[in-house]
Amino acid sequence: MRLAYKWACSLLLAASAALHGAPADWIWSARYVVTMDPQRRVLENGAVVIVGDHIAAVGPRAEIDKAWQPAQRLDRADAILTPGLINTHTHAPMSLFRGIADDMNLQDWLQKFIFPAEARNVDREFVRWGTRLACLEMALGGTTTYTDMYYFEDTIAQTTRECGLRGMLGQTIIGFPAPDYKTPEAALAATETFLKAYAQDPLIVPAVAPHAIYTNSDATLKAARALANRYHAPLVTHLAETRHENDEQLAKRHMTAAAALDSLGALTGWTVAAHGVWLDDADLKIIKARGVGLSHNPSSNMKLASGIAPAVKILSLAIPMGLGTDGVAGSNNDVDMMEEMDLAAKLQKVSTMDPRALPAEQAFAMATITGARALRLDSMIGSIETGKRADLITLRLDAPHAVPMYNVYSQLVYALHSSDVADVMVNGREIVRDRKILTLDQSAVMAKAREYQERIQTSLR
Ligand SMILES: [Zn+2]
Repeated sequence: MRLAYKWACSLLLAASAALHGAPADWIWSARYVVTMDPQRRVLENGAVVIVGDHIAAVGPRAEIDKAWQPAQRLDRADAILTPGLINTHTHAPMSLFRGIADDMNLQDWLQKFIFPAEARNVDREFVRWGTRLACLEMALGGTTTYTDMYYFEDTIAQTTRECGLRGMLGQTIIGFPAPDYKTPEAALAATETFLKAYAQDPLIVPAVAPHAIYTNSDATLKAARALANRYHAPLVTHLAETRHENDEQLAKRHMTAAAALDSLGALTGWTVAAHGVWLDDADLKIIKARGVGLSHNPSSNMKLASGIAPAVKILSLAIPMGLGTDGVAGSNNDVDMMEEMDLAAKLQKVSTMDPRALPAEQAFAMATITGARALRLDSMIGSIETGKRADLITLRLDAPHAVPMYNVYSQLVYALHSSDVADVMVNGREIVRDRKILTLDQSAVMAKAREYQERIQTSLR
């Protein structure tokens, strides 16, 4: 009798499981799911299952609904669901300097505005509010992961966690007294503490960020590399941004910037280098051999007239190159990845005089899976695949510029805007719902930004 009862119970359980499906935290479904998986599947009426911090399944909505029982559901009948965007180069707190000085040459910009403004204003509180502003803008624009380099990076890490974004965050090491540390030695010591503090963090990948070859001594560059390798951490730096940078190294040691960094051993290990505008064939051989990930920053390179990175050639060599915005002060006035995709594609077309160069799908890949590869985080993020972290966004298709839609990649790269992003999830946590940030007090962040503007303007008088 008891056995029969037990058997009946288990039958009932099995029946209810078949009826209700396996438990999940979320199902996100949309008209189109752009997976960016190796087959580049685009699922019409697709759905993604989220359990904890990861993607548990992805497939046609009808099948997913049969197999899973979610605690919460988000259904976007008129939207595209994609992996979160990856911004591979930023200086987040500089958002408080947005538009402080534009349309001038780099030396005037640095000497007359940025260095004095930084010296008089950048402290921990500045960094905290600047990061909040940047995270707010990034989250609302569909960026779920960003790679940063600035001062007081531990405060940036803390703030990024609060906002719920994912970050590869590099503490700056630079060869002059900085707002946080007065010497490279002090910065290196603080970086080590930072690496230890965030070693096991689910959202933050702490990094060592020597600013560039032209702002650091050889000894500092070597020490930064050794520190990064000791902690299996990435080294984040600027590389070959301007022609001047190469000319200087050629005059000094008869080597390009890339060859010079390599001769110091600085590229041996996990490395993410921003810009890569002035890389010749020999440099690209080095970059490829060392497995360096690159970040292409079209807005910044155009605005500062740095040049045009050979992105098509770089990608054809299977060197991973993602997209970045660079800092918001002067080099770019926003952190808008939708804009960078569009510009990246068009800049390659006009520079090669070939409209086939860098097609939309490849540009979208740069903002997602290729960017993840450049950061060496592609086992975790960059595509919608079972087992990867649940970093997802939706983009609405109900605006005039979003209809009709013949090709989903064309729409994403050439027609949609960051303001079309509706929902954002990072690591299984919903951080934007229907264009409203859930993790920050938006009006407080914006009020503070205006307050800083007054303060910064007064400091420059
Ligand atoms: Zn930069």
